[in-house]
Amino acid sequence: MKRTYLLFSALLITCSVSVAQKKKAAVSKNNFPATVKRPKLVVGMVIDQMRWDYLYRYYNRYSNGGFKRLINEGFSAENTFIPYTPSYTACGHASIYTGSVPAINGIIGNDWYDPQAKRNVYCAEDSTVATVGSNTMAGKMSPKNMLTTTITDELRLATNFQGKVIGISLKDRGSILPAGHAANAAYWYDGGTGDWISSTYYMTDLPKWVKDHNKEKLADQYFDKNWSTLYPIDTYTQSTADNKPYEGKARGEETPTFPHPLKLYKGKNYDMIKSTPYGNTITLDLAKLSIEKENLGQDDIMDFLAVSCSATDYVGHQYGPNSVEAEDTYLRLDKDLEEFFNYLDKTVGKGNYLFFLSADHGAAHVPGFMSENKLPGGTVDDSPFVKELSTLIAGKFNVKNVISRSANNQLYLNHQSIEDAKADYEAIKIFAVNYLKKQNGITDAVDISKVASSTLPEPIKKSITNGYNADRSGDIYMIMPSGYFEGTGKTGTTHGTWYPYDTHIPCVFMGWNVQPGKTNTTHYMTDIAATLAAMLHIQMPSGCVGSPITELTHQ
Ligand SMILES: [Zn+2]
Repeated sequence: MKRTYLLFSALLITCSVSVAQKKKAAVSKNNFPATVKRPKLVVGMVIDQMRWDYLYRYYNRYSNGGFKRLINEGFSAENTFIPYTPSYTACGHASIYTGSVPAINGIIGNDWYDPQAKRNVYCAEDSTVATVGSNTMAGKMSPKNMLTTTITDELRLATNFQGKVIGISLKDRGSILPAGHAANAAYWYDGGTGDWISSTYYMTDLPKWVKDHNKEKLADQYFDKNWSTLYPIDTYTQSTADNKPYEGKARGEETPTFPHPLKLYKGKNYDMIKSTPYGNTITLDLAKLSIEKENLGQDDIMDFLAVSCSATDYVGHQYGPNSVEAEDTYLRLDKDLEEFFNYLDKTVGKGNYLFFLSADHGAAHVPGFMSENKLPGGTVDDSPFVKELSTLIAGKFNVKNVISRSANNQLYLNHQSIEDAKADYEAIKIFAVNYLKKQNGITDAVDISKVASSTLPEPIKKSITNGYNADRSGDIYMIMPSGYFEGTGKTGTTHGTWYPYDTHIPCVFMGWNVQPGKTNTTHYMTDIAATLAAMLHIQMPSGCVGSPITELTHQ
């Protein structure tokens, strides 16, 4: 026994000596980096409403330099999900960049009900700031409602504010939330004027290069081109026929069909460019210009450009995921992406920039398309039964106007009225939940504060819990069947649920320190910021709940 022990100890000593020698050798060779290795530029790209399946649905028709290059040169986390509901634009952008969930970062919807103010609050509204670059109200925006830091804020902190951060998107929330609180600038599109604008939160005047760019009125130039399909229309075999009654018609158009006569809008309606592929093109035009004019990625202190392409969302809402318009928008975005990558290669240098692409949410198929193909889907109009529920509670509990608002699949109860009537809040919630469960179009309803003890399946529990912020969320959550959403419209579609068509998103990294590959392990939207923090060697955002995608970081 003793001999064995001695022998074992001797072995251990030998082993540790050899490890120590190896370590010593490594140190003496001095092959550790003298400085922290970081890229010159990080480019984040969020494609608004890009379902994961679009990576492959149109793959055969993508060019070699756009999405195909991204998939083949990059690392794709194929099973990346949004871990909360509602899956809306503001929540998605905030979650990607904060690595956090609405419960913590506070962005629980594009807007939500504020019982104190008795009105809806918009995610990026800020009455204390003014528009810079136009005379409209479109610039009274800032990130003040976002309660945690972003990965872009952390880059500013990690570089002692020497690394630049710029956000760009057609949508204010798609620019402001990713750029974070400490951004150098955020620009968004004012549909009222056709100009790129900002707010006094960031600056007192637009830089000259933005003003000069606005003078070019690119939107008018794109309107002149009209919108025809990129390839002959009979080659769009991934889409339904062009003329379908469940597609939304653009203003001034007789049918929802190609060619879309954009010349109608020239000099008149600059908003209309948002629901055409040119909305993405003008966004990337500004993104490229910002790299040149702000010298992004030109020195050793890393910068961050956060771009969001929103036209995909407007097109998707109006025409639906199975439309020729959606297919053409992605084929055109693919061309824009190729040009953007080529531009980055030329100005920042291949291998000097880290690029990632993801989406803020996906989308459901259009209900009309689903029923046409015998697939489950539809709309639910909750207003009649919400009204009836209010009347029933008034009769039973003697509380007037008990429902303040129905928003984001949640009912906001009027706490003040309940208190004034000295009624039983818990009993009212139980009554409401039992009533709602019986309504057509509602699969289940739950008291949000008691989700954990409900009979809901785990993924739904987790989604609702992560989306619940005690200060900003409602009291009761209503769950609709797969394929269904709240509304009365006969055309177009939306998103917002926990279901995979709304929450399965692309997550692909490419460029600096990225080995090509993919993983089918489940990851979450919140892992993107954690992965960036690990790769860039900077602190993760203040409310980050994600983990690095270790298949990519190799750690
Ligand atoms: Zn949307």
